[in-house]
Amino acid sequence: MPPPGGSMPRPPPMPPAPVPVLIPAAYVIAGNTAAFDYEQLAIEANGTLASMLHLSAVEFLLNVDDDPPHGSEYAQTTSWFGALDLLGTHHCEISIHNQKFVGVTPLDAQSIVTHEMFHCYQQRAAKYLDSWKKVSPSISEGEATW
Ligand SMILES: [Zn+2]
Repeated sequence: MPPPGGSMPRPPPMPPAPVPVLIPAAYVIAGNTAAFDYEQLAIEANGTLASMLHLSAVEFLLNVDDDPPHGSEYAQTTSWFGALDLLGTHHCEISIHNQKFVGVTPLDAQSIVTHEMFHCYQQRAAKYLDSWKKVSPSISEGEATW
């Protein structure tokens, strides 16, 4: 029924149908490349520390991840995972957060890896996780930072 005094307004014309746009895209697997040769840095650090401390070199494994950086940690070292005693398998594990090393100078990278390697020596000396947990961080971090 038309409104009083006039006819029904016509609806506005429909806008033209959008034209689909094809955007070329590709999935490219870009391998994350290590910012440094961490294995070589760790071998050098291990040799330097063994020589300076007059101890045998430690057995170690490196884990390099490309996870998004979180926090201020560049790397982490452990000789225990939960109740699993890695020292029982004669090694210490250094986890490197590769993205944190992007833009770091080679000298700083060597310093960080040497710091982590020193934790391997400390943990080997502590021998047990319970003993390691009793070491004050001011000592464990202070020694490793020298
Ligand atoms: Zn540390």
